[in-house]
Amino acid sequence: MKPEAPFVPSPAPHWHAVPADKAQQLLEVDAACGLGDAQARARLAQYGANTLAPPRRRGPWLRLALQFHNPLIYVLLAAGAVTFALEDYVDAGVIVAVVLINAAIGFVQEGKAEKALEAVRAMLASHATVVRGGERHEIDATELVPGDVVLLESGAKVPADLRLIRVKNLRVSEAALTGESLPVDKHTDPVADTAAIGDRRCMAYSGTVVGFGQARGVVVATGQRTEIGRIGTLVGEVQTLATPLTRRLDQFARQITGFILAVGALTFAYGHLVRDMPLLEIFLAVVGLAVAAIPEGLPAIVTIVLAIGTRVMAQNRAIIRRLPAVETLGSVTVICSDKTGTLTKNEMTAVRIMLPACTLAVSGAGYVPEGGFQCEGAAVEGGRDAALQALAQAALLCNDARLKHDAAGGWQLVGDPTEGALLTLALKAGLDPAEQSAAMPRVDEIPFESEHRFMATLHHDHAGHAFVLLKGAPERVLGLCVAAGDGQPFDAPAWLARMEDAAGAGQRVLALARCALPPGTTALSMSDITPRFTLLGLVGLIDPPREAAVDAVAQCQRAGLRVKMITGDHAVTAAAIGRQLGLTADAPLTGEAIEALDAAALRTAVQHTDVFARASPEHKLRLVAALQAEGELVAMTGDGVNDAPALKAADIGVAMGNKGTDAAREAADLVLTDDNFATIARAVREGRVVFDNIKKSLLFILPTNGGEAGVILLAVFAGLALPVTAGQILWVNMITAVTLALALAFEPGEAGVMRHPPRQPSEPLITRVLAGRIAYVSLLMVLVTFGVFEWVLMRGGSLETARTAAVNMLVIGELVYLFNVRHFTASAFSRDILTGNPVAVWMSALLIGFQLVFTYAPPLQQVFQTTALDAATWGVILALGAAKFLAVEAEKAVLRRFNIRSM
Ligand code: ATP
Repeated sequence: MKPEAPFVPSPAPHWHAVPADKAQQLLEVDAACGLGDAQARARLAQYGANTLAPPRRRGPWLRLALQFHNPLIYVLLAAGAVTFALEDYVDAGVIVAVVLINAAIGFVQEGKAEKALEAVRAMLASHATVVRGGERHEIDATELVPGDVVLLESGAKVPADLRLIRVKNLRVSEAALTGESLPVDKHTDPVADTAAIGDRRCMAYSGTVVGFGQARGVVVATGQRTEIGRIGTLVGEVQTLATPLTRRLDQFARQITGFILAVGALTFAYGHLVRDMPLLEIFLAVVGLAVAAIPEGLPAIVTIVLAIGTRVMAQNRAIIRRLPAVETLGSVTVICSDKTGTLTKNEMTAVRIMLPACTLAVSGAGYVPEGGFQCEGAAVEGGRDAALQALAQAALLCNDARLKHDAAGGWQLVGDPTEGALLTLALKAGLDPAEQSAAMPRVDEIPFESEHRFMATLHHDHAGHAFVLLKGAPERVLGLCVAAGDGQPFDAPAWLARMEDAAGAGQRVLALARCALPPGTTALSMSDITPRFTLLGLVGLIDPPREAAVDAVAQCQRAGLRVKMITGDHAVTAAAIGRQLGLTADAPLTGEAIEALDAAALRTAVQHTDVFARASPEHKLRLVAALQAEGELVAMTGDGVNDAPALKAADIGVAMGNKGTDAAREAADLVLTDDNFATIARAVREGRVVFDNIKKSLLFILPTNGGEAGVILLAVFAGLALPVTAGQILWVNMITAVTLALALAFEPGEAGVMRHPPRQPSEPLITRVLAGRIAYVSLLMVLVTFGVFEWVLMRGGSLETARTAAVNMLVIGELVYLFNVRHFTASAFSRDILTGNPVAVWMSALLIGFQLVFTYAPPLQQVFQTTALDAATWGVILALGAAKFLAVEAEKAVLRRFNIRSM
């Protein structure tokens, strides 16, 4: 079979030296309508997906080997070797088996955690806007092929290598490729063949980010064939499972190990020199002690808790991009949120029109173009009113939104909601979009950017007249107007008063204006936007708060979190919406006011209001700094490319998954797939649950270790027989770590997690109450274990039987303690204790199964020197277990009396 002719000439030309139209020719595409679907499919088959080879992960062998790289394991292995040398093969075997099993569990769990994180990251696939078959489409960036026509706008990550065909003020940040941090201006003219990458101004390379402007380009290389693919650096960092907390815990585990070794050495010296114990016996006791006391399962448990938390958050539409964010989230004290679309629905409806002569109310809801106009209660015929027609025409033409109608979905908006509302308004006034744009085609435009708050379009009609339509924030547009549509003198204060009246009702107000340009004008630039416009009128749009956001704000406030709204909207509109959301909105602070304040004054000012209006990304950055200087832990939302610095500066940067730009997403720690404020509140709650569960794991594991170690120490120092052997201790540690401690990772969270103030970030991991509980439970553990051991010996049982009973007592003691620990101080006597965490119940059943095997199965009886127990012994074990359970519940009741709810 003859190979298919390549679409990209081979060898590929130096695209930067090829003129734009030649590039299109070579790639067999027309930039106006793009590739056809069949063409794109064929090219995808030929060139493959537009993906880069994933970063090299640590191989499985290395990952397995790393499981042994841990001081705790070294101690165990050393103990195993010495035990072996002392010819105690059974115990040596058990130690080695435990080390291997521990490594296997760590290996599997870590693999699972990594997979979970990877799956979460895959949810953040990038998209590209392409023109195919003459229409714009959003496609998965992996489906791009050479010849595809891609549209870029500010904040977008360039999805493949592009030869630029059309640019509008395009500036691209190429740091990812060239290391140059300043954005580069781009154009479409070819450059010298020999130009270095940084000088190829007519190219946009994959992985770089559009800082400003817009462009259209044709794909010349995808996947590994792009520049970034060739140099082999992958954009986007590789996540590791280490976080500040896991590092702190690792360090803590190391300190404990050091301490235990010291206690072990002392015990050895005491046992051998003072008490004259045989070398093997005291050595095994010390090994048992070390094994008992070392919390070897802790780091793994914490990783699992974090990974499970990340997964739960992802299921709730909050995607963690950096693992440490999971722990930080729980201690956030201030959430700064955008308004439009995050706190509000972003479903705009025009409800009021302010024309020079009258104010009209608009009826109808959403994007359904049905509804009418009333002036003081009397219906106004939309098609007859010239002033309304002129305004509606501007609203329609200075607009990039489209409305689609289909039977299943009804009326649907493609584009920006503000513009959608204006388009709907024009349709209600009886205008036909196709007819209007055919009669007055657009020749040029200045696109909307939050920085300048307006959009302008240049049109001409078929008689050769050129005119500009302008729409934007009233302060901006009114300043450019010299006349109003009715020919009366332009009364700016009166218009401002009308604007504030609408804004006071929570409406977003836009002004529309028009001005004629000399016939034949074909280009529009900022220098054309001078005070010479005629104001056509103002439009008031409502965008109601999301119901869920109102509840979420209240919930945050109950949880001691302050919610601050930062919006590009007008102060009066912002304050009205702020009030509806339950924020302190009496004295909103505007961007202008923020600029007038120095850092110290801003720190005071941020305490007094929750609403910041007409704020730009630089203001966000200053607000983050001011709040952080006040000791707050700040979560900040953002969507634009210029929000990236504020997102990075915040303790938790939150980006919008839908309307956000790639640049914002990459700077963020957390991405909301539904752009909803309530999702942040839920993520904060989940963050708190994660932290609580980590604490609960500590609370569970440490007394377990403490109790086991206490039993051995007591035996050695009191000169009694060891109630449990080293091998038995290892058994207990191993099976409880896999079963019981793991169950705590699935704890759903305390009922009151969002009713107490955030945890201080400076709070130590082991608080005083926590340490108290650890000591208390360790003591109880020693008491019951010794109690059973001595009781069996007293009634004439053998040492083996007494030890078997002691081991079962330890395990039952831990099992009941798991149900104590599920709540810090809340009572365990509720139905929830059995139904709240099914994993805990299953794990308990599993554990009991293990214990029966341990006690009754002959092979295990041989290895661990266990014997069957009689009913009376079981009875005593269960009774003591119940007593221990009650003793911890009593301590919880005392803590409750002191109003201690968490530890
Ligand atoms: P938030 O920051 O709460 O999300 P926002 O991002 O919607 O608000 P911007 O998009 O920066 O705020 O809008 C600021 C102002 O610019 C608006 O109040 C409005 O007056 C004006 N504006 C918004 N969209 C357009 C548009 N498409 N064309 C012209 N002007 C617009």
